[in-house]
Amino acid sequence: AERSGNTERPQYVESTTMHAFSYMRNARMGIDETERPTRQTIRRVLSFARPYRSQLIAFVTVIVVESVLALVPTLVFRALIDNTIPDKNTQQLAMLAGIVIAVGLVTAALSLLERWWSSRIGEGLIYDLRTALHDHVQRMPVGFFTRTRTGALTNRMNNDVIGAQRALTGTLGSVASNGAALTATLITVFALEWRLTLLSLVLLPLFLVPASRVGKRLAVITLEGMNLNAEMNTSLTERLSASGAQLVKLYGRYEDEQATLDTQAARVRDIGVRQAMTVRTFMTGLELVGMVALGVLYWLGGLLVIDGGLTLGTLAALTILMPRIYQPLSALSNTRVDVMGALVSFDRVFEVLDLPNPITDAPDATELTAPAGALEFHHVDFSYPGSESTSIASLEAVGEDHREGGPVLRDVSANVEPGWTVALVGPSGAGKTTLASLVPRLWDVTSGSITFDGHDVRSLTQDSLRAAIGVVPQDPHLFHITVAENLRYARPGATDDQLRQAARDAQVLSVIEALPQGFDTVVGERGYRLSGGEKQRVAIARMLLKDPAMVILDEATSSLDTESEAAVQRALATALEGRTALVIAHRLSTIVGADLILVLDEGRVVERGRHSELLADDGLYAALYRTLVEGSEALLPRIETVAP
Ligand code: ADP
Repeated sequence: AERSGNTERPQYVESTTMHAFSYMRNARMGIDETERPTRQTIRRVLSFARPYRSQLIAFVTVIVVESVLALVPTLVFRALIDNTIPDKNTQQLAMLAGIVIAVGLVTAALSLLERWWSSRIGEGLIYDLRTALHDHVQRMPVGFFTRTRTGALTNRMNNDVIGAQRALTGTLGSVASNGAALTATLITVFALEWRLTLLSLVLLPLFLVPASRVGKRLAVITLEGMNLNAEMNTSLTERLSASGAQLVKLYGRYEDEQATLDTQAARVRDIGVRQAMTVRTFMTGLELVGMVALGVLYWLGGLLVIDGGLTLGTLAALTILMPRIYQPLSALSNTRVDVMGALVSFDRVFEVLDLPNPITDAPDATELTAPAGALEFHHVDFSYPGSESTSIASLEAVGEDHREGGPVLRDVSANVEPGWTVALVGPSGAGKTTLASLVPRLWDVTSGSITFDGHDVRSLTQDSLRAAIGVVPQDPHLFHITVAENLRYARPGATDDQLRQAARDAQVLSVIEALPQGFDTVVGERGYRLSGGEKQRVAIARMLLKDPAMVILDEATSSLDTESEAAVQRALATALEGRTALVIAHRLSTIVGADLILVLDEGRVVERGRHSELLADDGLYAALYRTLVEGSEALLPRIETVAP
């Protein structure tokens, strides 16, 4: 909402709509008793506003001048009625008309200036907060992102940042303009006729008390309405997504889904009606009080004019000015709520900015140079940290388990020589993915250590460590940009030839060339759909461009079609050559050919060695191997032909 006007606009309507909006805004930002902004917040807000200090002063000055100028036409009108017209003074008439036009011109200029400053300050602040948030958030560990609802996070970067901006320009502007208008108008009306003014002001409590009560109720209703809407939208989005709709269809749950939506939509409808009626009751009440005050003014003022104690011009001026006391007063009576709401927005932004990052470079971190790819796990224990250390409750996905988990890895030790392929095998949930994710420091070990080329990974800079590690996940993410841009994400300066070479090595060149626009085809979520195997090969090409000393590969569990499978196998043979590889292995060929197999069960390494040795031991590995062979009997012959 714009700050309230201070010129001749339909006053009551405008002021009440403004109320309604400010209440809604506050409700939307979810003010409640537990979120009390502190003095510290204010201090911090001021520090963010500091660069704009001179612009703020200019902004407020312009507003004050505008408010005072707004009185001029009314005073001119009074002079017109009392002197100029009765005296038939045409010269003065022209002069007064000229004054009003001049005031209009100056006000127009000031209003442009005011908007210039308020938008410069406001947009500047949005920019400052947004870039600061983004810089901080994108460095947070993955745990933060897995626990955080993306929507809630982007909401902070959009709505709360905008809310914070409103605090500075909107609320400040409103306080300045209403305060100045109120002061100037009060002084003027008292000077014009103090007895009448006093009498009219007696009605004020009649006006302000219900205003704040209805306002509070409106805030509650609005908040409830937003929650109901959000609930409905969430379940709609889920049900109408491709996979959700499919589920509904397969289980024939149309009727139940319809009934659920029916209930939700009905609640949204009912709260909408209640909200509309509350807003209207509020506005009608205010208009009524305003009219009563005006009636009193007409009656007593009229009597005074008849008695000769008051000029007609003064009565006219009072009639115009009186509503302009009520309007800023009602706006100011809610300023506290407005300011609180604005500060809550700032608080919510600061909350994210203050979130500690548990995985940061050590102060004396060193660069990893010329990585060879030697890896050692040294009595590694790991539990996933509780959410309170990596996220903010209000940002989290609902229904998440917030407790700190039990140990996921226990006393894992292993020594990996450069160039080895290590297959991590074991039942689902054994901790294979977790173990692999500790190497690039997506998480830090709870105790024990991991060394890369003899350096504890926590003593290296994260940038240099991660530059040495390439990751090919099961379901790789491609951004919604062209294939070439996706590949260059790994190496921005790569030439076209290098892209082609990497694509060739990853067995995906012919696939890319067959795309509608070749390397310039946009892929990703809403772009051209690549198959799972093709996507994985693009990811391998991307990794090859990065040319890391070590590769973490999460093999797809589902088997691909024969051709794709063979292509991925060939691509991997190139990709892993000369690199240390940590493979979360699901394919027999990978496991059988590995230099070291680590068999994990419930977070422990229960068996280790090469395929033949482990098979001879006839333990968990042998059992897993048998199920794999049986499960893929049909696949076996072709895997044999594919295996290097
Ligand atoms: P695997 O890769 O062998 O299937 P994971 O390493 O994915 O096993 O999981 C090991 C255990 O850690 C499981 O019990 C799983 O529930 C738990 N786990 C995995 N990821 C997280 C996480 N982000 N937060 C908490 N627990 C997790």
